[in-house]
Amino acid sequence: MKYNVVNRGDETSVRTKDRFHELAAASGLTVDAEHPDVVVSIGGDGTMLHAFHLYADRLDRISFVGIHTGHLGFYADWKPMELETLIRHMATDTSEPIRTVKYPIIEIEISNGNTTETHLALNECTLKGVEGTLVAELRINDERFEMFRGDGICISTPTGSTGYNRSLNGAILHPSLEAVQIAEMASLNNRVYRSLGSSIVLPKHHHCDIYPKKGQKILFTLDHLNMQLTDLTSIRCMVADRKVSFVRYRPFPFWNRVREAFIGDIVE
Ligand code: NAP
Repeated sequence: MKYNVVNRGDETSVRTKDRFHELAAASGLTVDAEHPDVVVSIGGDGTMLHAFHLYADRLDRISFVGIHTGHLGFYADWKPMELETLIRHMATDTSEPIRTVKYPIIEIEISNGNTTETHLALNECTLKGVEGTLVAELRINDERFEMFRGDGICISTPTGSTGYNRSLNGAILHPSLEAVQIAEMASLNNRVYRSLGSSIVLPKHHHCDIYPKKGQKILFTLDHLNMQLTDLTSIRCMVADRKVSFVRYRPFPFWNRVREAFIGDIVE
């Protein structure tokens, strides 16, 4: 099996990466940065976002696994003390294809009227006004839905629903649901301006288009990346045809992760 490691760069992650390479070499695994079978992310969920975008053009051939060197993550669920176990699985797993779970991601098309760029997001994309309130028309399946005014709009995947979306009071979606969630950031709602107020979930094969008011400068974020767009005419979001694969050598149910990350021990 061929693998590559992406690490956060802090002391613990670098040490864990060095140890991983040592143990992996002893187990006959080889490093291949161009065409790995498995990409190992060492750090946190943020590191997995970096790893995902490094290999977003090869998702059909690559699976990811995350080792957390801080707190338990949603994508990073192996501990540094479990390196031997993880490497043993990687070296001895002969199943073809290797054991994975596949999670939905979002496809985003950004248009400026002349050209359209396509991106994928693992967590979410967001639009915010740079110089104040974002004013944007939201269309769902080509029908006008609402005129949004507020701080911004967040469109998240099920696995991203525990990230930014959760801070916006969006629902947490199980990643077996092929859906995208649209959540508002501080919408203006009064007698003049009106938007739905609650987040909505679109199934696969539905799409939403956001048309910001002409001339607005937009801050667009894609997972950990952000860029200022001055000539944006519209953004289309939908569940992507492709999925992201994570190696699954042992079960760790999603709701257990949610409980461990956000609730902790239950006091009777
Ligand atoms: P960051 O601002 O340095 O860290 C954001 C935090 O979000 C980190 O603690 C990160 O976990 C955590 N996180 C990332 N993906 C998550 C997920 N799917 N579920 C639960 N927590 C998650 O930024 P970053 O590390 O580059 O990550 C970018 C992400 O931050 C965005 O995709 C967005 O989801 C999130 N974010 C949240 C808010 C907010 O809640 N108000 C604002 C901006 C961005 P680790 O510590 O394990 O890396």
